[in-house]
Amino acid sequence: MKIDIISAVPESIEEYLNHSIIKIAREKGILNVKLHNLHDFSTNKWRRIDDYPFGGEPGMIIQCEPVFSCIEKLQEQTTYDEIIYLTPDGEVFNQQIANELSLKNNLILLAGHYKGIDQRVRDRLITREISIGDYVLTGGELPALVLMDAIVRLLPGVIGDVGSALNDSFQDDLLESPIYTRPAIFRDMEVPKVLLSGNHKEIEEWKYTQSLEKTKKLRKDLLEK
Ligand code: SAM
Repeated sequence: MKIDIISAVPESIEEYLNHSIIKIAREKGILNVKLHNLHDFSTNKWRRIDDYPFGGEPGMIIQCEPVFSCIEKLQEQTTYDEIIYLTPDGEVFNQQIANELSLKNNLILLAGHYKGIDQRVRDRLITREISIGDYVLTGGELPALVLMDAIVRLLPGVIGDVGSALNDSFQDDLLESPIYTRPAIFRDMEVPKVLLSGNHKEIEEWKYTQSLEKTKKLRKDLLEK
């Protein structure tokens, strides 16, 4: 999968690419991620990419020119499945969207900054708008990383045991059952006996019941779906 991330501060994303799942995916050649600095596409000598809003509101807005230039340049080389703008007023990200995007080959993630980007970019270039929740962050860099991480861990070959990602919370609209590791007894706390029984059928039934109970208690809305 190829992911191009466009940002006004791509340096803030760089470090994350060199750790954990993203690093593994890159080293295995499963993920090709490139960062693009919007300031490189500025049309002025000060490398500015923002200007005052028409209509006199406070704050600054990312202009059309740098974003169009950057995306059009990328499109000369690659056909993109989705050009995604991270924005608080987009559809709220969830596991189903992550699953769906993990089946794509080429994605652009556009991170906004300041008050956001000129609406004409959204009207003409963007194919999907995604929010990571009902709160406002300073920039789209963290949301872009959230999307990329959630997508990349689903790509075949990235996580050693793919089953591990598939029984995480939200797959099948259930929360994960409680999990334990050695030692079987820690202080006065024992691991549920069924998990030590070696009886796979009983273990699966226990996990499913626990999962269902936890979801009922904490996220009834998932079951109602
Ligand atoms: N004026 C915008 C509004 O009211 O919707 C908020 C702009 S915010 C300060 C700057 C940038 O951060 C946005 O353009 C977007 O890319 C990103 N951003 C902030 N919160 C976000 C969220 N919850 N989900 C996705 N992106 C977000």
